[in-house]
Amino acid sequence: MAAQIKLPIYFDNHATTPVDPQVLDAMLPYLSGKFGNAASHSHGFGWEAEAAVDMARKHIAALIGSLPQEIVFTSGATESDNLVLLGVAEAYRTKGDHIITAVTEHRAVLDTCAHLEKTGYRITRLPARPDGLIDLDQLRGAFTPGTILVSIMAANNETGVLQPLEEIGTLCRERGVLFHSDAVQALGRMPLDVNKLQLDLASITAHKCYGPKGCGALYVRSGVKLAPIIHGGGHEHGMRSGTLNVPGIVGFGKACEVAQSGLPEESCRIAGLRNRLRDRLLAELDDAIINGSMEHRLPGNLNISFLNVEGETLMAAVKEVAVSSGAACHSDKIEPSYVLKALGLSDEAAGSAIRFGLGRFNTEAEVDYVAERFIDAVKKLRELSPA
Ligand code: PLP
Repeated sequence: MAAQIKLPIYFDNHATTPVDPQVLDAMLPYLSGKFGNAASHSHGFGWEAEAAVDMARKHIAALIGSLPQEIVFTSGATESDNLVLLGVAEAYRTKGDHIITAVTEHRAVLDTCAHLEKTGYRITRLPARPDGLIDLDQLRGAFTPGTILVSIMAANNETGVLQPLEEIGTLCRERGVLFHSDAVQALGRMPLDVNKLQLDLASITAHKCYGPKGCGALYVRSGVKLAPIIHGGGHEHGMRSGTLNVPGIVGFGKACEVAQSGLPEESCRIAGLRNRLRDRLLAELDDAIINGSMEHRLPGNLNISFLNVEGETLMAAVKEVAVSSGAACHSDKIEPSYVLKALGLSDEAAGSAIRFGLGRFNTEAEVDYVAERFIDAVKKLRELSPA
């Protein structure tokens, strides 16, 4: 089996994805001869760069069903999330001061909400059910006359759990409240249509869909107001000033074009690999618990707690496989994941979680190797310290 695979194996596609060779090929000319500034309107170098950006904008828009002019380029989804929350809060201040989000959101949303709270906005953080989904009745009950925005992610970066965006979109539209989704983990991995989901704003980033790092975008539905957080040359309809990252944008566009051309087949294949991994692990190991809904979940995600084994120790025992644990380093301390804790896991169960993130370039032989190595390591570690 080892002959078929190359070590180390990368199973951490929620952290970032490798750049697809087709994306790299598309980008390279814009890192050498085609170096123009897309805002230079007086010569061919600029026109060439602008045309490349326009093309990328079309490909990104096509993948999410928006108009090209509704795509605002940013440095990544952290910036997109900041731009939405701060930009809507400021632009709609006279309409209201209340924002609804969920406890399982990415820090880019949660920390920005905490910042707004300090400046006088009211934030409701919806809890998660044990399966990771929010409760729509709790959302219904959270709206107030001053609610200006609901921000709920499409797919969670730890558990892969998918939120019911279509239903949330309907609730927001009925009440005239803006709906934003951090759709980073969903882009290119499942269908995402901003009109069907009734999204007004969506954060996306290139490096989670086989594009380059440092390039993201915000979908802003026509007519939605947004105060800029970066001031300068008035690029991107004045919503995000700064010279455009042309090579990054070209790569992002290509990544979306590639994703769209093979989306249903690819997500089916990746779900098959993920299910194979799950079935092997569960067949061999007791006390292995899947965290979050299996039904409402990204195809490539598997988050499992191997009870009585510390995730960090397990990862150290299987060094040749890149995965993540259910713990994160905050201020130099290792803490159990707040996402898993929100689903009701104890510190111990959260600390024993491993996130497997499968992607485009993973193979069946890799799944079999990873399953075998984790089964072996969990059994050995449990023998060493029986709980
Ligand atoms: N939102 C989610 C759900 C993510 O998974 C990430 C990446 O870790 C981000 C936001 C931040 O994206 P970026 O790395 O482009 O700033």
